[in-house]
Amino acid sequence: MSTIVMKFGGSSVENTDRIKEVASLISKRKQDCRNLVIVVSAMGKTTNQLIEMAHSISDVPDKREMDVLLSTGEQISISLLAMALNAQGLESISLTGWQAGIKTYGNNTKQKIADIELQRIHAEHQAGKIVIVAGFQGFDEEGNISTLGRGGSDTSAVALAAALKGECEIYTDVKGIYSIDPRIDSRAKLIPELSYEETMEMAGLGAKIIEARAVDLADRFNVPLMIALNTGMHQGTRIMKEVDVMLEENVITNVSVVDDVVLFNIEKFGAKAEEVLELFNHFSTTDVNIDVISQSFNDDISFTTKKEDLTEVQDIVAHFTNHAIDYKDDVVKISVIGNGMRYQSGVAASVYEVFAKNKVKFYQV
Ligand code: ADP
Ligand code: ASP
Ligand code: MG
Repeated sequence: MSTIVMKFGGSSVENTDRIKEVASLISKRKQDCRNLVIVVSAMGKTTNQLIEMAHSISDVPDKREMDVLLSTGEQISISLLAMALNAQGLESISLTGWQAGIKTYGNNTKQKIADIELQRIHAEHQAGKIVIVAGFQGFDEEGNISTLGRGGSDTSAVALAAALKGECEIYTDVKGIYSIDPRIDSRAKLIPELSYEETMEMAGLGAKIIEARAVDLADRFNVPLMIALNTGMHQGTRIMKEVDVMLEENVITNVSVVDDVVLFNIEKFGAKAEEVLELFNHFSTTDVNIDVISQSFNDDISFTTKKEDLTEVQDIVAHFTNHAIDYKDDVVKISVIGNGMRYQSGVAASVYEVFAKNKVKFYQV
């Protein structure tokens, strides 16, 4: 059987009891899989706490040092999980990003995976060990510790599965992907199968369940992907090529609601594509991800980003243009997703009916 990469996020390893439960699930999985790689995130809200600590020292902490700081979160969880597995009589070894050979490139705190040197992982598997790898981190061309951006452990897991030509199982605190975040609406339905495309759209639109980059990687390298509850008791959601999914698609598979959003408006920016391109290039070189872009007849341009990019966007606009920038951070982004919508009219009308009934103010679609 091929290698299985199992990934456990912060909620699954938030305290030592949860870590022991994760170890028990791994122990069961080991019975039918020889080569296991486990990827873990930092415990609970550790990464947030580390970021707060950095900001209590400096408004703009040095990004290289930020990488060094943030990578410590995952180092705690890998070692504790290795101890928990060893205590259950299973031989395991924890590896940091660089020990696992995860080479990265790009901007600090938002690096991308270039390649994975697999010798160490293969050697540990050969010795019969379960390999536990710190998610969200690697090392750059100059040997610096790097991190992959928030939620990056999903990408670490899929990249390892791709490199090892294995399968990836993402365990989390819900049974799989639902039609809407089950914490927002208890009527949410569990979706047994989804295409890479729909999942990517959902994740790209901000649903927290899985990182869009990870789904994109899985799609490009054909990595079988599953999202399931961290107790291993339920089937979960399988993510696969569209052709394999269902013959007759649902019109709407998912509604995603995201509140980590800032909506910017740059006044009278003009309608010249070259100027927009220049500004967006500045965002792209600093890895600020912009989304929901629209340009109105009065030549204002508006777009959204994550809240963490607020000051960076303001600085870039102030530096490279003379235009006033305004923002709203008390907004949510609602996206309606489903491949079947391509052939179905009336979806927008239903959405606006809900807005009208609930007196929801909206800005753009
Ligand atoms: P982890 O700590 O395992 O990385 P996350 O908090 O990143 O977990 O992601 C799991 C959370 O994603 C769930 O607790 C749920 O609130 C949220 N979520 C958002 N959209 C969905 C959805 N469509 N289906 C299931 N969960 C969703
Ligand atoms: N610990 C990192 C974060 O909180 C990475 C992850 O959880 O995937 O963003
Ligand atoms: Mg996550």
